[in-house]
Amino acid sequence: MADRLTRIAIVSSDRCKPKKCRQQCKKSCPVVKTGKLCIEVTSVSKIAFISEELCIGCGICVKKCPFEAIQIINLPKDLDKDTTHRYGPNTFKLHRLPVPRPGQVLGLVGTNDIGKSTALKVLAGKLKPNLGRFNNPPDWQEILTYFQVSELQNYFTRILEDDLKVPSKCTIFYSFMDYINYIALFDLYVDHIPTAVQGKVGQVLDQKNERDMKAELCADLELNQVIDRNVGDLSGGELQRFAIAIVAIQNAEIYMFDEPSSYLDVKQRLKAAQVIRSLLRPNSYVIVVEHDLSVLDYLSDFICCLYGKPGAYGVVTLPFSVREGINIFLAGFVPTENLRFLDESLTFTVAETPLASAEEIETYARYKYPTMTKTQGGSSLR
Ligand code: SF4
Ligand code: SF4
Repeated sequence: MADRLTRIAIVSSDRCKPKKCRQQCKKSCPVVKTGKLCIEVTSVSKIAFISEELCIGCGICVKKCPFEAIQIINLPKDLDKDTTHRYGPNTFKLHRLPVPRPGQVLGLVGTNDIGKSTALKVLAGKLKPNLGRFNNPPDWQEILTYFQVSELQNYFTRILEDDLKVPSKCTIFYSFMDYINYIALFDLYVDHIPTAVQGKVGQVLDQKNERDMKAELCADLELNQVIDRNVGDLSGGELQRFAIAIVAIQNAEIYMFDEPSSYLDVKQRLKAAQVIRSLLRPNSYVIVVEHDLSVLDYLSDFICCLYGKPGAYGVVTLPFSVREGINIFLAGFVPTENLRFLDESLTFTVAETPLASAEEIETYARYKYPTMTKTQGGSSLR
């Protein structure tokens, strides 16, 4: 039984098409052949259901499915009791949560689809963690009891005691890579969506200038040159800096940033990191998901890594010092859990090939372009 509990079955809702296959998964499953309902699917089903309790992990269905819709994954044994959230049967599962600390920047690092956005939504109070019980979700009292051994109990209690006024207290910024989440969260909880915001950059910043920081933020985030431009006309990098400014200009207790350095050059990244660190107050929480390890290093006071299998499950590690956390992410090995999550460590090699000279570039150039000019709003590129 203990062994069974450590297995998860993921069925991709995008790939599973019972109407277009012959339900090979069910027909080939040895447990189904013994008369048990390990896989339930018919030609009129929307999606196949796999019972994780009955599955013996043989992997036959994985090979038989013509659309590669199934993943059967064995998890480390003690993870099941640490389930924070599961969206539904045979779907992504998040284990544990990062624990923010007041007055410190918590950095989160991990590959894509590993649960970072789920963790942020839970910490923002936007997603009530169901502790894996999607059929019988717990109430907040039970959730608080579950988290009583960690600082998360205090954290969630603060959110709840504010009479669930998380929206006005919690400011969330999602990068444009996570566009859908970005819109949903901004729309629902912060009342503004940069791309849908009508008006000029300066006017919008004025409306939210709760911290009286407009001048400083515009200088730091290089927004003065676009201050009179419509938000809809901003480029990717400008929109990114504008969104950081919109978040930073507000008086919030919890600030979350999902990949704030995307679309920014090195100098802008450093400035954005300084702005984000300036949000720290003794009682405020700042949580940042970041892929740029040098920015993460500069920004964070401590780090949690996320590992797992993209789209299937994610696990949050215990907090580490910044240096330790980044090294663990690169090494793919968590010493405190004696667990390897990457087959090979990530290493960087420095190329010693000298840069090509202008003559060499000229010699090998295959294409030539005529002079071009592009004008966007008030700026022009030649
Ligand atoms: S999992 Fe694969 S074989 Fe099974 S119903 Fe879905 S598409 Fe068909
Ligand atoms: S992995 Fe599980 S569900 Fe798939 S065929 Fe084997 S026992 Fe059945």
